[in-house]
Amino acid sequence: MEIKNENKFKGLFKKFGALSLACVFALAIALTIAFSIKNQPVSGNAISFSSPMNNAVVVKDYSEDKLQHNESMKFYAIHLAVDLVGEDDKVFAVSDGIVKEIDKDNDLEGTKMIIEHADGFVSVYCSLDNNLLVSEGEQVKKGQEIGKASDSSIMEKHSGGHLHLELFKDGIEVDPNLYFDFQNK
Ligand SMILES: [Zn+2]
Repeated sequence: MEIKNENKFKGLFKKFGALSLACVFALAIALTIAFSIKNQPVSGNAISFSSPMNNAVVVKDYSEDKLQHNESMKFYAIHLAVDLVGEDDKVFAVSDGIVKEIDKDNDLEGTKMIIEHADGFVSVYCSLDNNLLVSEGEQVKKGQEIGKASDSSIMEKHSGGHLHLELFKDGIEVDPNLYFDFQNK
C-alpha cells in the first residue's frame, strides 16, 4: 500500500514537474516575443491615414500663431484645424479606431465626433450633419463613411457645408497637413 502511494506520488511529481517546465518555457517564449515587439522600430507598425473626404480641398487652413478673421463670429482667432470640402459631402474615418464621443448638441462647433486611433492619435470631426452612420463605442475602419459634412457649426457658418478636422497626437493638437495630402496643397 505504501509503495503504491509512493509510486502514485512519483507519478504526480513527474506529471506536474513536466508541466511546470512547460510553463517556464511558454513564459520565456512569451516574454521574448513581447520584448521583440516592444523593441520594433515605430515605423514598423506605424499608423496610416486616408483622406477624410473625397478629393478634399482646404478652404480654411491650420494656423497656430497667425490670427485668421472669423467672418461668422466677427473676431480674429487661431485655427487649430483644417476646414475641408470634398467632391461630395461624405466624411470618412481617417484611420482604424473607436468612436469615443459624439456630441449633437454642440451649436458652436456643430455636430462633433471624436475617434481614437493607435499610436496616441485622435481625430475630431466637427460641423457634421446630425444623421451619423456610426455610434459611440463603435469600431471603425480606415476609410469607412461616418457621416456627412454640413453647416451645423454656428462658429463656421460662413464656410457653408464643410468638415472641420482636428488631429491630436498624445493629447497635443497637430497640423493635419503633416499627415494628409489635400488636393490644393
Ligand atoms: Zn474650422
